[in-house]
Order: sequence, then structure tokens, then C-alpha cells
Amino acid sequence: MSTTQTVKTTCPYCGVGCGVIATVAADSSVTVRGDPEHPANYGRLCSKGSALAETLGLEDRLLVPSVHGRDTSWDAALDLVAATFSATIAKHGPDSVAFYVSGQLLTEDYYAANKLMKGYIGSANIDTNSRLCMASSVAGHRRAFGSDTVPGCYEDLELADLVVLVGSNLAWCHPILYQRIAAAKERRPQMKVVLIDPRETATAAIADLHLAIRPDGDVALFTGLLAYLIRNGFADESYIAANTTGFAQAMGVALDLRETDVCAHTGLSPDVLQSFFQMFSARERAVTVYSQGVNQSVSGTDKVNAIINCHLATGRIGKAGMGPFSVTGQPNAMGGREVGGLANMLAAHMDIENATHRSFVQRFWQSPRIASKPGLKAVDMFKAVDEGRIKALWIMATNPAVSMPQADAVAAALAACPFVVVSDVTDQTDTARYAHVQLPAATWGEKDGSVTNSERRISRQRPFLRTPADVRPDWWIICEIAKRMGFRDAFSYAGPAEIFAEHAALSAFENGGSRDFDIGSCAKLDPAAYEALAPFQWPRRANGESTERMFANGGYFTADKKARFVPTGLAAEERETPDFPLTLNTGRIRDHWHTMTRTGKSERLSQHYAEPFVEIHPDDAWHYRIADADLVRVSTGLGAILVRALVTLRQQRGSIFVPMHWNDQFASSARVDCLVPGITDAISGQPASKNVPARMERFIAATYGFAVLRRKPTLVQAEYWAIAKCNGGWRVEFAVAGIPPDCPAFARELLGKASDPVVYQDTETGRMRFATYDNGYLTGMLFLAPEPVAASREWAIAQLAAANPISGKRNAVLAGRPGADAIDRGATICACFGIGANEISDAVARGCCTVAAVGEATQAGTNCGSCRPEIKRIIHENALAKAV
Ligand code: SF4
Repeated sequence: MSTTQTVKTTCPYCGVGCGVIATVAADSSVTVRGDPEHPANYGRLCSKGSALAETLGLEDRLLVPSVHGRDTSWDAALDLVAATFSATIAKHGPDSVAFYVSGQLLTEDYYAANKLMKGYIGSANIDTNSRLCMASSVAGHRRAFGSDTVPGCYEDLELADLVVLVGSNLAWCHPILYQRIAAAKERRPQMKVVLIDPRETATAAIADLHLAIRPDGDVALFTGLLAYLIRNGFADESYIAANTTGFAQAMGVALDLRETDVCAHTGLSPDVLQSFFQMFSARERAVTVYSQGVNQSVSGTDKVNAIINCHLATGRIGKAGMGPFSVTGQPNAMGGREVGGLANMLAAHMDIENATHRSFVQRFWQSPRIASKPGLKAVDMFKAVDEGRIKALWIMATNPAVSMPQADAVAAALAACPFVVVSDVTDQTDTARYAHVQLPAATWGEKDGSVTNSERRISRQRPFLRTPADVRPDWWIICEIAKRMGFRDAFSYAGPAEIFAEHAALSAFENGGSRDFDIGSCAKLDPAAYEALAPFQWPRRANGESTERMFANGGYFTADKKARFVPTGLAAEERETPDFPLTLNTGRIRDHWHTMTRTGKSERLSQHYAEPFVEIHPDDAWHYRIADADLVRVSTGLGAILVRALVTLRQQRGSIFVPMHWNDQFASSARVDCLVPGITDAISGQPASKNVPARMERFIAATYGFAVLRRKPTLVQAEYWAIAKCNGGWRVEFAVAGIPPDCPAFARELLGKASDPVVYQDTETGRMRFATYDNGYLTGMLFLAPEPVAASREWAIAQLAAANPISGKRNAVLAGRPGADAIDRGATICACFGIGANEISDAVARGCCTVAAVGEATQAGTNCGSCRPEIKRIIHENALAKAV
């Protein structure tokens, strides 16, 4: 009998929600592959999904509960948490406590947390980090549709004749959706793609038109589009009359706009605007996909409604290949919305301000109380912690000391909070250091529950690993605390199947088609049926009624069943000041996730970008005297960070971009969210993590360094450092303001005691190099120079990972680059096969002029496909270079 175990589960990263098949071999090794039957991905996985097996190790895991830094028993930890929350509520009232939760939680975890806070504690002070991701979409949906409904499905992206991508670097942030669109475009070349983004991101590789819009110019753009559609007879008058209200007001505002204002607010020329407007009006099958570039803004909700207005006006909603389409960043942002994980929502998409809804939920739960007003949204919640109004805070599965705006102020508030509980899979986060109590939670592979993806599809996340002895699932931790707070009966679940069935029953409770979220068909699911549950889209009502698309014939969830137009105007505002003349945008990169707690464990995911960086347009780089690979201090009114310069024409003049992933575990000073002010959209409460006024200057170091070493470095004595896992160990980049007074001692401290060091020193240039060996095997290499070190990183890593002793060329490694007989692979582009930019350029120079040809020659791009946009760019750049 084979002992190999195969389990179908779901990827824990982004909102695409790809199906994964995990196989555990007899020797406990795990492999993952895409689930060919899952409707989100049909077998594909991106670079992050493909590397999931590399992130499952127990290193860095939190494995035992602790109180004040000391290991303790579960009983002691749970008793303390329950007693402290109960005492705080008794003394200061229910609003003196809060939960800050996460889109990493499964729906069952989320459901229990929300039930405890809103129905039993009696406060709505539970908010989720999804507030930072898509709260503006929720608010926009509710204003327009009366419910938080995504009307379409992924298939629409393939059926559309026009896909408009707004503020969405789909190629890196939702790679499988990008690949589905790219494949559809290849099958139907007449299909058009428009990218609306201040940067020419990797997604531009499939765009027929790129609108390099001014940050926050989206409201003006889509209001301008609405005016164009109306003026040129593209409005669908019968749909508008039958299914909407408020058109006249929205039309009035739109027609009042002057083209010059739209141009000024978008930064786009009349010709470019006309091209886009004509493309949109000429293609009935149009989908507008939007993401954080729309949501993370002071005008995020208006942006969403400006987009929805154009679809309502043309009746392009809920039909095959048509509709507005919000895609979420987190794997279970949608599930969190469904159970009321946002402070202004009730469970099952019900409204906290609606007395009837409150009555439904309280009667269903038979709870002693029900929150009667919205709770504190994320930014306000941490302000309340800072002001001492929140006295006990429980943070579940997230890292607000890195990811919240004003991250330093958040960290200070946590440090001053009388009682902080953190339940997470690791204690290696910037937030965990402020916890009075740490509770070890189960991670992906151990967790059992469900998630909902961006197309309203609910999928199971199933366990395939043994949970470590003292680790517990989140739902269990929440229920145990609830029981100890006196709510035993309401939280005595046998397992996640029971919680899911209750969640489903609540969604159907006194619903009768009046509410969008209804999965009544699952209300009687037993554990066996729950175990076998196949992915499905909601709604799926008790009578079996279901639909892939909503609103083609109206049926909105407002009192009159009609959608509402929301008048929108220009909305962009000048935020730059003379002191901070640049616009800082934050975002994600291809191979990292959130604050790197998971992807930072993978060697191959850490190679694409091994350091925090700032993208700068060449003109700005010249103006600020910054060269590629220099170090740059980026600052706002709140502080400064230190990152590597990446000078590129893909960036817009006057704008800079810094990724949001790096934290104090991986870099000296790169938490970009400590630069972002806690300014929010007035309707959604979502912070404006983009369009932040900033400035930058070159950081001049006296000594720059690069090292590779076997063990993880413990301390790097430098103003700047960044570490990343690599094949065979770790790579380190650093820079110090002065010359290390004792370079050999510095080298010893970084590389460890070497039994057999080799040293090279050039007194004329000030360069020094060290190599350490153990029995002929390289254990570390260090390069010091008065300028950014020019050694080939990929080559150095290959020496560290070499399977054989280096004997015979112990000095040769100090050259820092391969000999004439070997190729320097260059920066990693294809993470799956470790193919570098130089290898791809080389293949292109040898005549490979398509992505497929490069793949055939090098293997690059032939597995997950996430690097194909970059391969396409290299081909394009080579062609341009040849033409000049
Ligand atoms: Fe995971 Fe990638 Fe699919 Fe997102 S696109 S769910 S990260 S495999």
C-alpha cells in the first residue's frame, strides 16, 4: 500500500484562489501542483504558488503559547486572555477591547471571531487587514448595488472583447488571472487590453494601450468616459430606465466636466483619452478590473462608483464578458466580508445600521446582545489604542507594525497598550515583539476550513500536514477564549464543518431572496459532505438556485431593486508640497507576499528582488544625482527609509514606487508603511497607501558590502542592510557610513570564525575581499568596496551552493565573477528554473525573438509562466537597442 497522500486544497496567497494539489510522500516531503479541475486556475500556479512547498518548514514557527515571553500551557494562556478581556469589558465597557484580524484567516475562524465580538462582547470593534486592501470596493458596491456583490466571474475576463485594468498590476499581483487573459488574447487577437496605471508595470506586456495616469486621476477619467458614452449615444436607455436610479444627477455632473479638466486631472492628452473612450464604447463585451490602485486612495469609493457608473449606463453588467470586477489582494478577503469581518458590517453581508438585520442576526445567534453601531475601522482602531481607549487588543494572523499606515506610530501604540495578544504562525514578526501573550496558530497545510475568492467562489482549504503538538487552529483558539468568557454554549463547535454549516444557515435565515449572500444549500452539511465540498460560487440558495453572474436583468439589493448611480466629479487632489515634491506609490512585487513571513522562507522567491528598492524615472534620478544601484533615503513627513535605487523608464516622472513587503526581519530600515500617513477615504475608511508626498536623496556610504554565507547572519553593523535566503544559505547587502575601522574583525563577525580564510586587499582602491572555507567547501564570501559592489551575485551564490569542494581555486572566488569560460547569469528572472537576465538576453541575441523561443532555448517561462512579461520586456528592449 502506498503511503503517499494527495490532498486538494487552495493557495493561501492572493484573491485568485487557485486550487492546489499537495502530495505528501512517504518520506514526508511535500510537492504541490495546480489542480486541473479547479475553476480558478485549471492547473496553473504562479511563482508563489509553485514554491509553496518551500515555505512549510518549522523554522521561525511559533510552537508553544507564551506569556510575557515565557513558554506556558494553553490553559494558562487562554485563562489569562479570557480573564483580561472580561475584566477590561467589565471595567471600561465592550468598546474598550478590539480584534484586528486578517484575510489570511479562514471563513470559519472569521465567523467565530465576528460572532464573539459583535454578538457576545457586544461591540463592533473587529476590523480586518482587508480594510487596507478593498474596503473602498465594498463601499462602492454597497452604494451602487445595495450589497457587497462582485457581479461577474473569471470566465468574463476571457470572453471580453476589452479588458480594462485599472490600478492593477495583474501580472504580479494576480498572475493566474493575467495568464488567463494573455491566453485568451492569444486565441482571439482582436481582444484588446487597456492598462491604466501611473507605472508601466509588467502587466503592460499584454496591453494595447497604456494610460500613464496621474495618481488618483481615475475618478476624472471614468467620469469623463461616462460623459463621452452619453454624448455619443452609447447609453443603454432601457437598462437605465428599468434597473437604475440617479442617472440624471450622475449625467449632470459628468456633462459639466470640461475636457481640459479631465486632461489636467488625469495627466493624459485629449488624443489618448479619445483612444480609450472609443475603445470602450466600441466593445460591448467590456470588463473593468480594478484593485489596490483604485481602492487605496482618499477617493477610492468614488473611483469604484465612477467605474460602476459606466457599466450601469451601458447595461454592461452581469452578462458574459461584461462588468466591473474588483479583485482582492488576500486569499480570503471575500470570506471575511461574508462573515462581517469589517467593523461596519454584520454577518452574512447584513448591515449593522439596519435594525431588522441586527434583529435577524441576534435572533439567529440567540446572543445576549448585538453591536448596535459600527466599530472602529483599522486606522481609527490603532489611534484608539494609542489614545488608551482600547485597553486590550487581539491581533490574529497579521503584522500591523509593518503593514499599517504610520507603522511606527502603530508600533508605539502597541508598545503602550496594556494588553496585546498575538495569535500567529510565527513569532518572527515586527508585531509579535509587542505581544504580552502569543498563541501559536496552525498554518497553511495544517488548517481546515474554507475561503472565498474574487469571483465569489468558495473552496475548501484542507490539511495535509500534522499540526505540531502545541499549535491550534484559529477557530479553536477563539472558541476556547469565548467559552472561558462565559459563552460556552454558543461556541462549543465540534469542528470547522459545524461552524460552516451555521454560517450557511445564517446566510439563509429569513432571507427569501432579499439578500445577496445566501449559501443555504450548505446549511445542513455534515462533516463528510463538508470534507468533500467542491468549489462553488455563491449564491447557492437552499432550493438549489444559483447563478454565475448577477444583475443582467437588475434585481439589485436596494429597497426598489434598482442600482444607484453615484454622481462623481474630478476628485484628484494635489498632495505634493515644495518640501515633498514627489509622489510615493506603494505596492507588491511578483515573488513576495504581504510582509514576507511565508515567501521570505523560500530561496527561489527571494532571488527575483533580494533587496528593498525604489523605482525612479531616469530624469528624476539625474535631478537628484542618483545612479542605478545607489542607496536612496526616501522620506515623508513621518520618517525615512533606506532602499536601493532602481532607475527605470517604466516609472513616471515625479513618481516613485517602493514595495510594501520588507520589514525589520529582512532589512535595516525599509518598512515603507511607516512613511504613509493614516489618511483614509471618508466613506470606506480605507487608507490612501498610494499618492503620498515624498522626497528622496542619495545616501552616501563610505563602504559598501555584499556577502554570501551559510548561516543566517545575526547582526549586521551597518546603516543599511538587507538579507535574503539563497541557494546554500543567505545573501547580505549592506553599507556603512564610515569605513569599518577593523575590516578583518568586521569580516569575522559577519562570516563567523573561519578556520581557513583567504583575504585579498587592494590598498589603492580600498577594496577588500574575504572567503572562508570548511574542509574545502566555501562557507562565506565578503566583498567590501568604497562604491556599490560589482560582484556577480548569482555567481557568488552558485559558489556557495556548489556540491563539490572549491579546492584549487580558493583565490579565484575572490574575483567575484565567473571566468571567461562561464556565463554570468545576471539577475534572476525565471524563479522556477533560476534563469537570469543575461542568459535570456543571450538567447535573444542568438535569434530567439518570442517568449516561446526563449523558453525552448533556456527553459525560462516554461513552468509557472509568471516571468513571461519580463522575458517579453527583455526581447522588446533588445529589439529597441538593435534598432537604435
Ligand atoms: Fe496563489 Fe498565484 Fe494563484 Fe494567487 S495566482 S492564488 S498567488 S497560485
